[in-house]
Amino acid sequence: MSQHLLDIENLTVAVEDKEILHGVNLQVNEGETHVLMGPNGAGKSTLGYALMGNPQYKVTGGSILFHGKEQQGLSADQRAKAGMFLSFQNPLEVPGLSLKSFVRSTLAQRTGKRVKLFAFEKQFNAAAELLQMDPAYGDRDLNVGFSGGEKKKAEILQMLLLRPSLAILDETDSGLDVDAVRTVSRGVEAYQKEQKGALLIITHSTRILESLHVDYTHILVNGRIVKTGDGSLVDEINARGFEAYEQA
Ligand code: ADP
Ligand code: MG
Repeated sequence: MSQHLLDIENLTVAVEDKEILHGVNLQVNEGETHVLMGPNGAGKSTLGYALMGNPQYKVTGGSILFHGKEQQGLSADQRAKAGMFLSFQNPLEVPGLSLKSFVRSTLAQRTGKRVKLFAFEKQFNAAAELLQMDPAYGDRDLNVGFSGGEKKKAEILQMLLLRPSLAILDETDSGLDVDAVRTVSRGVEAYQKEQKGALLIITHSTRILESLHVDYTHILVNGRIVKTGDGSLVDEINARGFEAYEQA
């Protein structure tokens, strides 16, 4: 049997002693794109944080295997180093650290090698161009004074440069105008098609999905995956809403 890239088995997660996820099962193979949808408060972000190892989100049962390795007890840093990437719903501002230095040092940590400046600059500029970002943003403090759209683009830029094997995008498209969604989507498409990276896309909208191939769609309601289907399930949800699944 071939090994899954990500294998979540019967996962329960609690926040402040309250169980939010009640036994989630989800398998993602290399290069696959999974979409996770569900009403507000269903636990989608909780799943993302638990996968990434945020200590506020306590795994109380089940397991998370990434590249076949149990993640329990590993820090967010260690998970990132192993190839996991989480794009936050609200990216943090980090005064005193430029976007470029941040990405370059993260890349060095991940590869265990020094990242040569010239080659890095080239890649940085190419990714910035794809995302229609002024490369000058690279020298600005990470996310400080960035607009909502610029923060999201900066996250996608990090993803493109870090080349994770699994990227979890938590509402990366929310609050973006039509043009920005298209631009962000182009970045995600490059990651999907050129880098062959796997994706878990948490979203409420289909606009980010338009140019992407979707392998599986999952509906999370009250901390449980209540339905899994292919890409067409996204359209079904758009037409019917979540109510039908909430009662199921
Ligand atoms: P979704 O992303 O699907 O909208 P969340 O995972 O953010 O849902 O939240 C699921 C539930 O967990 C909600 O009831 C929310 O209030 C609770 N929750 C999430 N994070 C925290 C936190 N840091 N502290 C307290 N409650 C939280
Ligand atoms: Mg959320």
